[in-house]
Amino acid sequence: MLKLVTVIGARPQFIKAAAVSRAVARQDGIAEVMVHTGQHFDTNMSEIFFEELGIPAPDHHLDIAGGSHGEMTGRMLAAIEAILIEEKPDWVLVYGDTNSTLAGALAAAKLHIPVAHVEAGLRSFNRRMPEEINRVLTDHVSARLYCPTTAAVKNLADEGIREGVMHVGDVMYDATLDARGRARSGSDILVRLGVEPGRYSLATVHRAENTDDAASLRAVIAHLEKVALERTVILPLHPRTAQASARFGISLEALKVIEPVGYLDMSALLDGCADVHTDSGGVQKEAYFHGKPCVTLRGETEWVETVEAGWNRLWSMPDYKQPRRPIGEYGRGNAAELIVADLVMVGV
Ligand code: UDP
Repeated sequence: MLKLVTVIGARPQFIKAAAVSRAVARQDGIAEVMVHTGQHFDTNMSEIFFEELGIPAPDHHLDIAGGSHGEMTGRMLAAIEAILIEEKPDWVLVYGDTNSTLAGALAAAKLHIPVAHVEAGLRSFNRRMPEEINRVLTDHVSARLYCPTTAAVKNLADEGIREGVMHVGDVMYDATLDARGRARSGSDILVRLGVEPGRYSLATVHRAENTDDAASLRAVIAHLEKVALERTVILPLHPRTAQASARFGISLEALKVIEPVGYLDMSALLDGCADVHTDSGGVQKEAYFHGKPCVTLRGETEWVETVEAGWNRLWSMPDYKQPRRPIGEYGRGNAAELIVADLVMVGV
């Protein structure tokens, strides 16, 4: 029996891990031990995803949140190391680009346990982003690198990483396909918010570069206020952005601010919106998966194919390219299956 230890801790990782865990459960000869670092801990940033998406309850919960990047990552590193020594897995599976990703990868690599990285090869080429540091370092200690796009494969090749690289498509697409149907019958969030399909914009803001200083956050909110002159802007407010706006005294009154929502409600909001304004990585692609144009509230994006195909534009860019083209490289909704099959094939 092949034994995986999966390390997750932040909202987007729960969503990605849900897709892979389902595939693990369907596959013989592989078992998963779930480690939750605690990086995201509010019920609506963590627990709700475990419930809605049927993620197995964590076998280990580290309760490590807050503090500086170094402190958080260091505490996770020590705690994960102890778990890996006890669990003796064949593989450690990490997702994306958070401090939990880096801590899991580094703890494993130091113990000579092979690391598999889901969403490998993404680059913003902006080393001031904490996520960029986490992904570069994680990729360089990973034995299997599961890329969502061809651009990601090329980024790795440019850094000399060619072994163990596989273009599997995007597990977020798997997640979207799973959630969309259930959300259409199961979510009444549009009714609860009193909005009509096609008559509102959906926004999310949480990147450090947009929330760490008052001027940057003001610029983002000013952009959303301009959109709000046309139609209602719904903003499920990330805790970091809530804290920042309170700290800087920035009013969010022009926007329809709601608490962060679960994945089914989020899927319903994406399905019903006119367009999306976001600094999130995942939400940029989900906009495309739901056939909605997106404005990315950043200076660069890792998901360059969404821009090339005309679905997404950086907010500094003039307008969308027309006509919009379909994007094939995110796969057919079977990225998780390909990942699990590959791990089983590679074995111990
Ligand atoms: N999301 C959600 N509820 C919300 C806001 C976002 O379920 O209130 C989902 C969103 O659909 C996407 C994921 O969380 O799948 C993105 O997470 P986030 O933006 O925090 O991280 P990133 O993708 O930028 O790493």
